[in-house]
Order: sequence, then C-alpha cells, then structure tokens
Amino acid sequence: MIRLLDETTVGAIAAGEVVERPLSVAKELVENALDAGATRIGVAVTRGGLDALEVTDDGVGIACDDLRLAFARHATSKLARVADLERIATLGFRGEGLAAIAAVARVRLESRTRDSDIGYAVHAHGLDVSQPEPIAAPPGTRVRVEALFANVPVRRDYLRSPTAEFARISSFLAMLGLGYPSVAFNLTHDGRTAFTFPAAGTLDQRLAHVFGTDAARSLVALEPSDGAARVRGFVSPPGVDRGDRRLQLLFVNGRLLRSTLLAGAWSAAYATFALRGRHPFGLLFVDVPPDHVDPNVHPTKSDVRLRFADAVHDVVRRSIARALARDATSRLRDALSFAPPLQATAAAPSQDAGSSNPHAALFGAETSRELAVAATSPDANEVPPGELRILAQLDDTFVLATDGSALVLVDQHAAHERVAFEAIAARARSGTAVQEPLLVPYGIELDADEAERFERSRSALAAAGLEAEPFGERAYRILTTPAGYGARAFDLRAYVADLAEDAGGLDARERVWASLACHSVVRAGERLEHAEMTALLARLVRCKNPMHCPHGRPTIVRIEADAIARMFKRT
Ligand code: ADP
Ligand code: MG
Repeated sequence: MIRLLDETTVGAIAAGEVVERPLSVAKELVENALDAGATRIGVAVTRGGLDALEVTDDGVGIACDDLRLAFARHATSKLARVADLERIATLGFRGEGLAAIAAVARVRLESRTRDSDIGYAVHAHGLDVSQPEPIAAPPGTRVRVEALFANVPVRRDYLRSPTAEFARISSFLAMLGLGYPSVAFNLTHDGRTAFTFPAAGTLDQRLAHVFGTDAARSLVALEPSDGAARVRGFVSPPGVDRGDRRLQLLFVNGRLLRSTLLAGAWSAAYATFALRGRHPFGLLFVDVPPDHVDPNVHPTKSDVRLRFADAVHDVVRRSIARALARDATSRLRDALSFAPPLQATAAAPSQDAGSSNPHAALFGAETSRELAVAATSPDANEVPPGELRILAQLDDTFVLATDGSALVLVDQHAAHERVAFEAIAARARSGTAVQEPLLVPYGIELDADEAERFERSRSALAAAGLEAEPFGERAYRILTTPAGYGARAFDLRAYVADLAEDAGGLDARERVWASLACHSVVRAGERLEHAEMTALLARLVRCKNPMHCPHGRPTIVRIEADAIARMFKRT
C-alpha cells in the first residue's frame, strides 16, 4: 500500500540529509551566525553535542515577527527568487537549517535585533513552534539544541563517543576560524574551554592551532594572484608534508569545503617536489565571482561546482608553483649561505651541444662567473663570505662542501637529476632540444607491457631529442639521443621500468622527462672531478626548484657547525 507520509516524517527524512551528527548542527548554527554578521561566536557543547549544543552570536538578530518563520522549511531571508541562486554570497540559502535541526531535536532560540530593547524566545520541536515570549537578552542570537536524534534512535546508533563527536566539532570550528580571522570564536566542552580565538585579525595563533606550531611556521605565503580566481593562502614547503590530505584546507568564497578539482591543482603544483604517498598541507582562499560558483550541489554544501573550472585550476596551480619556486630558491640560498649576487643569475637553459664529455655537456661551462663556488685550493683555511668551498667527494656519491659555518652535503645524483630535468623540460617545451644521431643505432626488445608504455612516451621523448622507431614486433631502434647524452649509454630498459612508477602528480610528459633525466645523469658511485662538482652546484643553484630532485628527494642537506659541536658534546 502506498501512502503519503505525514509532514513530521517528511521533515525528519529531509533533516537526515542536513543533520547527520552533532557536527552538522554546529555547522548550520555557526554558518547562520556568520551570515548574521557576528563578530563573536560562542559554541558550548555538552557531552559531544549528544546532550546539548549551544551557539551564541552578536549578529543582527531575528525580529519577533520572523521568529516562527525561521523554523519553517524553505524559509530564508537570504534568497528571494531563483535568479538569486546564481549569486549566493551567504553560507546558508536553502532555508532548511533550523527546520532540519528542529525536526530531530528540541530547540530553543532567543534573539534580539539591534534596534529592539528586548529579545524574544521560541521553542521548536518537530513541526511545533511556540509563540514568541519576551525575554531580557543582549543583541544577537542564541540557539540551544537538546536531545538530538531522541526521536530517530538509528541516527544515535551511528554516533561515536562524545569525545569523538566533540573532536569533529572542535577541528571544524578551528578550521573555519582560519577563514574568518576578524571573528572571535570560543569553544567549550562540558563547561571547559577548548579554545579561544580572539578577533585579533592575525592568523598566526589560528594557523598554529590547526597545523601545529612548527608546521605553521614553515608555511610559505602565496602572493595574491588574480585571474579566473583570486588566490591567497599558505602552503607547506616541499619536504614538510603529511600522509593524507586532511589538512589541505580550502575556502571558496568563504565556504570551507573539499574540492577534488582544487586538490588536483594543489598536487600538480607539487608534482616535481612530492614523494609518492606524501601530501602538502596548507590553507587556500579561492575567491570567484558569486555567479561562477554553484554551492547548491551537495546537501551539506561541502562541495561546489565551479564555472571556468579549468581556468580556476590553472590559477591555483600556478600561484602555488610560483610560491614554491620562490621559496626553494631562498632556501637553497640559505642552505648554501650565498650572498645576494647569485640572485642576478638568469635561469635560461643553455645549449651544451657537441661536447664529447658527457659531464661537461650537462654541467656546462658557465660556472664561477655567476656562482661564487670557490675554486680556492682545498687547503685554504678561510672561506670568503658568501662562497662555498668544495671539500671532497664522499663514497663517490655525495659532494661535501662548506661555507665556513656548516657542512653542506649534496646528493650528486639527485642534484644532477634536477639539473637535467629542468634543462630537458625547458628545451622540450620550447622546441629547442638538440638531437645527436647515434653512429650505430641500437635496438632493444621489450615485453608487451614495456612496449606499450614506451609507445605512449615516444612523442615526449622525441620532443626531448630521443628518437626511436619501431623495429619488428615490440622492438625499437634508438636513432638519436638528446645532445650531450651521446657518450652515455642510455639505459632504455631501466628507463621503461621507471616509467611504470607513478611519479606523484607529474604530468605524462614531465614523467617521461624525469625518467630521461634520471637515466642520463651521473649516478651514485661515480667519481667526479673537482671542477665537475663545482659545475654541478653552479647549475643546481640556477634551477627553479633546486632543493629536490624531480621525484621529490632532497638534493642538499646542511649540517650546522653547532650541530656538529653537539655531537662532540662541546655544548
Ligand atoms: P538559511 O540559513 O538557509 O537561510 P536557516 O534555516 O538556517 O536557513 O535559517 C533561516 C533564517 O533564519 C535565515 O535566513 C535567517 O534570516 C534567520 N537566522 C537563522 N539564524 C540566525 C542568526 N544566528 N542570526 C540572525 N538570523 C538568523
Ligand atoms: Mg542556515
């Protein structure tokens, strides 16, 4: 038998979409407070919100005549007609927050508008809303929610412990607070203060609270950028990362949400920095014109649809990438303790074709002119300020150097990989790669898998100067190599194996170039001449992302003399 459901049941079903757990109640109420222009918001939680949850604000308040209407479904002051859906500037707009909460809990709402001398209170439960009664109250609104899900026992069964439910509220509110630094927030649990964010207008305390003090200090600020979107924020530098994406915080037009699209832009910006399985964190504010975003695609408004999504993706990726490149350069300078003259060096890729020495080809001739890597004799005691003296090669793998106050260790393979990757990518992108024909083309046979991977990377390889042609079934003949690599047998098999690995967020072409770089540079275990080490560092310094190889491993480690002194128990 088919029946029309009664209104109470309809309300409870609709509420299920909006109110899932105490966190949802906190979210709806705090969003209302922000929409009401509050400058102070207090959230008091009792037993994880299972017993009670109360939100107090100093916003515009609700007039007596509107109090009962606020609880009606689809009653809102934020939208008037369908066209308004095109330009939503408030957090709420569906008019179902209060109705949904009242459908599954007992609610008391007190409010006083700024131009009224007294406030009014109503009680709401299910579809019943009491007549407003006058009360003494400060301007603003206080909503108290009790007995959540008392009438929907299944929902209660899904809830975790009060501690776990409170933890969700607490982390949500702290994250939301990052988006509203001029609003004071206060959160208590069972009468004890969990945190207080004053309306200081500074983000520092809030960043430290959410990310931890050290991580917050390491964050790199983005330069505000315009375009399809206005992007501001803070991102973690490469090497400071997490195992998940939970702390990739994103505000789109003031709304805290998850966006697969923008998470992708974030990863893409880190492509040549990030180790597999590690994720950057930080805080992004993306602002787009209200009619370019549709927040009405998700019941709890936790995802949005963007118009011009590709363009927005691009602006976000580029502004993060730019900040990281700037930061990497300054950290390299710190690591090497270089004086400012280095800053003048251009990053233009050079053409090093035609040399028979593979190292010379990659390291190039332009060295000490731009770089103050000291060519002083190794036994000179003084290192001139702003210079780096190469001391030795360790284990045919690491370059040891000093600037006089620290020991600087460079992983020769990682460093060379970075140098080669940037040179290869720059030339391939600008179509200026130089090929070197092989006198004796060499052939290679691949298994079906390898052949497929290789086939897919062939055009990117050709752009980089490596041309190969099919030669029988699943066999290829290598005709040219990128200039400068000729003397170095390109290990095609290792290269193809490497291609199979998922290299973070590198795009397909970059992955090919990263692999090419990896298999065409000096390896660990190769002896380098002093001049080669000097040249390597000179080239590294001019990279856009000098601190990490394309796979995200560090290139340089610095050990301060202080730290060494501690090892000797001198301090
Ligand atoms: P929505 O937020 O989508 O409009 P709600 O059910 O959450 O729907 O709220 C209904 C209406 O009640 C709001 O449009 C607003 O006018 C009013 N309201 C709710 N909470 C507050 C508050 N804290 N301060 C002022 N007005 C409020
Ligand atoms: Mg609302």
